[in-house]
Amino acid sequence: MTKTILIAGFQHETNTFAPSKAAYENFERGEGHPAMPRGEAMLALRDVNLPAGGFIRAAEQAGWSLVPVVWAGASPSAHVTADAYERITGEIVAAAQRGGFDAIYLDLHGAMVSEACDDGEGELLARLRRVVGPALPIVASLDLHANVTEQMLANADALVAYRTYPHVDMAETGARAAALLQTLFTRGTPLARAVRRLPFLIPINGMCTLLEPSRSMYARLGASEGGAVRSLSFAPGFPAADFPECGPVIWGYGDDVSAVEAAVEALYARMMRDEAQWQVPFLAPRDAVAEALRLAGANVADSDAREGPIVIADTQDNPGAGADSNTAGMLRALVEANAQDAAVGLFFDPAAAARAHAAGVGATLALTLGGQSGVRGDEPFTGRFEVVALSDGRCRYDGPMMHGMQVELGPVACLRIGGVRVAVSSTKAQMLDRNLYRVAGIEPERMTILVNKSSVHFRADFEPIARAVLVAKAPGPMCADPADLPWKRLKPGMRLKPGGPAFGG
Ligand SMILES: [Zn+2]
Repeated sequence: MTKTILIAGFQHETNTFAPSKAAYENFERGEGHPAMPRGEAMLALRDVNLPAGGFIRAAEQAGWSLVPVVWAGASPSAHVTADAYERITGEIVAAAQRGGFDAIYLDLHGAMVSEACDDGEGELLARLRRVVGPALPIVASLDLHANVTEQMLANADALVAYRTYPHVDMAETGARAAALLQTLFTRGTPLARAVRRLPFLIPINGMCTLLEPSRSMYARLGASEGGAVRSLSFAPGFPAADFPECGPVIWGYGDDVSAVEAAVEALYARMMRDEAQWQVPFLAPRDAVAEALRLAGANVADSDAREGPIVIADTQDNPGAGADSNTAGMLRALVEANAQDAAVGLFFDPAAAARAHAAGVGATLALTLGGQSGVRGDEPFTGRFEVVALSDGRCRYDGPMMHGMQVELGPVACLRIGGVRVAVSSTKAQMLDRNLYRVAGIEPERMTILVNKSSVHFRADFEPIARAVLVAKAPGPMCADPADLPWKRLKPGMRLKPGGPAFGG
């Protein structure tokens, strides 16, 4: 008999230390995500690299029929407002109350905190469980940055997380959720589960699966599946959500509880043994620029003989982790070092973009950029900028992470001061695709230094052209080193970074 699956998505990565919250309007706009497709319109996600896309394709192949409800996502920020949380979860729960399906699939992030609730996903799963009862399968896919809670695990039959950061396997993760659901249908009974929570936070830069030790950890995880072990996941967490269950978790499902426990325990032991390897070296802005100039060979304006840019991650202003993409620390460091053929992007400043559009290409403007984050040390930068290029900000991603997705950045301008170009946008978007420079008239391959307001996602599209990648810690809202954050509610004993001091002790 054909199975019918209720599907919905609700994604938010909450940095409880960040300056601005996510309201319903933020989800309506999508902010780099699909703009809240509902009902049949949600099925268009099948062609997008999102978990829901991979699930929809797998479901169609399995001959399941789908009841799509809504897919809602907003840019990472501080808490989801209680209003947005209740309206979006209310829509999903109301659809579940109407019945007429055999299972539920949710495309979740796993690190959502609302104004009213630390554990946004766990609360949604618990509400759905109350509606459908204990027997109906509920499966969900999660981001690698999920802070997985006991409530989430208790109310889902299976949770499965991405294995790549940059997240190039989002659709694949949705397909893995569909495969687990098929297993649950075939068995007719729940799978055994095992869970271990790690006692230290990991900086997000250290989680990149293109680099060690993350690469080997995920390889081991994949190799440990098979036989009675149906699924293993490792979510290193999102270390900027101040609540007791923030932190890395390893979990798995299988036919045999002792086999799953042994597999999870082996991965846990490996993480404990390798804790020191998960530490991350960060550079001060001036040091990062000096190192980039040294690597570039010379501080020259001539743009012929080069082998690709040095890319610096302006990680603490990453809008993908709750920052606003408008700090000026790296811009100042580039200008002070008289860097040539350098570009910064994307710098979110609608007022500056509007002034550039009003003035026109070729005009020179006195502008102040940055200094709005409220973060100590984020000083405004004032200078005279030439308007080099303007565009309407319509952009299609071609990089491996979000290829095919169309974004609207609003008015975009390229502003130049000395040898430094700033790609200014009217909407926040993480620099994870080279076309986000091109939309401002900048050819990223031709630059000597690129400063990307991103932590890790940029690596998917930029590493192929980068001569080197550095990570800088300019003052900004996304604290790259979790040990720098003013934690209040972590679990006592949790180490604030690998090998770092313990919270509350
Ligand atoms: Zn993530």
